[in-house]
Formats: sequence, C-alpha cells, structure tokens
Amino acid sequence: MTEQPQRITVLGSTGSIGVNTLDVLARHPHRFAVFALSGHSRIDVLFSQCLTHQPQFVVATDPRAATNLESRLAAAGSRTRVLLGHDALDEVAAHPDVDMVMAAIVGAAGLSSCIAAARAGKRLLLANKEALVVGGSFFMDAVRTGNATLLPIDSEHSAIFQSLPPDRTLWPSVVDKIILTASGGPFRTRDPATLSAVTPEQACAHPNWSMGRKISVDSATMMNKALEVIEAKFLFGLDPSRIDVIIHPQSVVHSMVQFVDHSVLAQLGVPDMRGPIAYGLSWPQRIESGTEALDFSAMAGLSFETFDSPEHQARFPGLRLAWDALGGAPGSTAVLNAANEIAVAAFLDTRIRFDQIHTVNAATLEGFFVGHFASLQDILALDEAARAYAQQLVEGLAR
Ligand code: NAD
Ligand code: MG
Repeated sequence: MTEQPQRITVLGSTGSIGVNTLDVLARHPHRFAVFALSGHSRIDVLFSQCLTHQPQFVVATDPRAATNLESRLAAAGSRTRVLLGHDALDEVAAHPDVDMVMAAIVGAAGLSSCIAAARAGKRLLLANKEALVVGGSFFMDAVRTGNATLLPIDSEHSAIFQSLPPDRTLWPSVVDKIILTASGGPFRTRDPATLSAVTPEQACAHPNWSMGRKISVDSATMMNKALEVIEAKFLFGLDPSRIDVIIHPQSVVHSMVQFVDHSVLAQLGVPDMRGPIAYGLSWPQRIESGTEALDFSAMAGLSFETFDSPEHQARFPGLRLAWDALGGAPGSTAVLNAANEIAVAAFLDTRIRFDQIHTVNAATLEGFFVGHFASLQDILALDEAARAYAQQLVEGLAR
C-alpha cells in the first residue's frame, strides 16, 4: 500500500525560507503535496509557484499587490483558489486537510497563523522566530493544548533539537547549557566607531547565509541572536542563564548542547537552510535535502570567540537586550520585537542610522509599560502599541 503524501501549507512561500522549502518539497513529490501558499508582495513569484506546485489555495496577504492574480491564474488554466487578506492565513494554517504548516512569514505578522496551526494540532515548522518571541508562553500553551508538534527551523534551534535526547522530560535534568553559535555577520571585525556610517546594502551582505533583508540586518546588529536566545528559552524551557552565545565565523557548527557531565554535542553542516527544513519535514526520519556534504579536507579550521571583549560589547550592544527582556514583565519580549521591526524598517528606508536601531530598541524596552494580557487580541494590541511607541522615537531621530 502506498502512503498518502503529507499535505503542507507554506506561509511566506515567496521569501528565502519559502523558496528553499519548495525546493526540498519538489525533491519528494510522492511524500509531500502543497496544499496552500502565501505571499505578500512578490506576486509574480507567487503566480509561478502556483503553476509549479498547484496548491488548492493561495493567500495574497496584501490585496493591493494581488489585483490580477486570480485572472492570471484562471487564464493559465490553474484551479488554485485565491484568498485575500491575513485572516485567510489562519484558515489555510488550520484547515482540516492540512498535515503540516511551514511558518516562514517574517515578523509578528505571522503570529496569528502560527497560533491557528498550533490550536489545530498541526506539525508546525517554525522559521518565523518573531512569532514565538512575541507570543512567548502564550504560543507554547497553544502548542500544548492543541497537541501540535512544534519543530524549529532556525538552524541553531534545529541543531540544538538534534543534539538533545528525544525524551523532552529529560531536558531539565541533563542539560547544563545550550550554546548558540553566531557568525558575527558582516561587521564582526569592523571598528564599532564606524558603524554609524553603514548602509542597508552593507548590512544585508551576509558573509555566509543568503536571507531576507530583515533577518540580514538583524544578523548585522546581532539582534537576530538576541531573538534566538528568546526563541531558545521558550522552545526548550531553560532558564535564560543557561543560554550562551559564541561567535563562530565559519557557520559550520550550527549550535551545541553542553550536558551536566560537560560532554558537548554539536550539529554540523554547510550553511544551507534546506538542511534544517528537510529535517523538520521528515523528522524523526531524514530525507535528501539538496544540501552539499561538508568537505573536511577543504576546511581551513573552525574558530570560536566569546562576547566578553569590550570591543564586541560596543559592536553588538543589542545582544544583552534578550536577557533584559526575558528578565522583565511578561510581554517584554514582544515589546523588544516590535521596536526592532520598526527600527529595522526605518533603517532600510534610510530614515535612521544603523547604530540608532539599538537606540530605538533599548529606549522602547526601557520606556514602554507592559500591561496585563491574556488573549491573542491582547498580545496583538501590545505589539501595536509598542510599535507606535518605537515609531515616535524613530520620528525624533529621523533625518
Ligand atoms: P523574506 O523576507 O525572504 O520572506 C518573508 C516572507 O513573508 C515572504 O513570503 C513575504 O511575502 C512574507 N511577508 C512579509 N511581510 C508580510 C506580512 N506583513 N504579512 C504576511 N506575509 C508577509 O524572509 P526570510 O529570510 O525567508 O525569513 C522568514 C522568517 O524565517 C523570518 O522570521 C526569519 O527570521 C526566519 N529565518 C530565516 C532564515 C533564512 O535563512 N532566511 C534563517 C532562519 C530563520
Ligand atoms: Mg538562526
């Protein structure tokens, strides 16, 4: 008897993770079938993805960008149905015919659909780290009560998950700490005094990974690692004091777990997101991913640097905000994320300087008061209010 293919919704299919996901899926046509796709802007890419993967639904979240998608698809003989707006994301994430959801939207815009997939008990492949940073324990509760399977796609968290014992009840007693590796981004050795002159193009030119613009800027400021520290806290349920970050410029060791006996397990591979994506899709099995094998004979060496030097602290002041936010009132991680989304967008728009991203983030985290919240609506309202606060700070700084 042949098995039915697993049906998957890919949210954010036009982005870097989305395109890599479709690449892996196309290698296994008997194993997976695309149920739905979504995109915000690049409608031409979304159109051609629909013709190639023939999903039942496509969601265009920005209706203004998708004006003629429906008629173009119809003219091309496609049977894919077009849905418009963000509410439709929840629908295709929680649809009863869906087995898995790849959450590859960037930013808090992906939170609601992640919660919908979690509540519906899906296998949820999480690339959209901001959703977990914003949703925090509310997100993890939805995973538990929905009986969903949450698998990390971020390469560091996939590496940690692969290094941990499968029995998660053991984690609190066997893990001493988890060690997230960071490449250091494009400015690892740059004089901190010159960071104010950095352009968006320089910030987006990552030495090892090819990614969307927002995460590329986050990698340059090290805010990406701050978000990953928060992500790790919620995913693995460890005290923030047990999370370390170390610079590893080659991006070969994707992260490590140190156990209580001081044995360390690491996961290695070339920097190619199709590795963690294929692992999430196939777990607990493994499948071909399209990723090259590591060539140990060509490897010049693996090196590691700590963050302790005053120069690294001046270069990457944003990293410590992760622990500040985790130590603050619940919801502080959502505030930090909101500030960072606003500040990065303003930097990419050349309205504020690169170093002012941290100014906005630190001042918002410090100055914005977090009230009580109990529902998804409350969290979305908190996100909205923190964005408005950060936007005011941006206006004060804007050139
Ligand atoms: P990207 O910018 O390339 O793609 C983002 C996707 O989200 C696109 O499909 C876009 O259309 C959609 N989108 C953007 N704004 C939206 C909105 N307001 N509403 C709905 N959809 C919207 O980003 P990416 O690099 O693919 O990253 C996606 C997520 O994965 C991010 O959270 C990022 O931090 C995480 N991630 C990415 C990488 C990587 O290598 N690119 C690695 C680890 C984690
Ligand atoms: Mg990562």
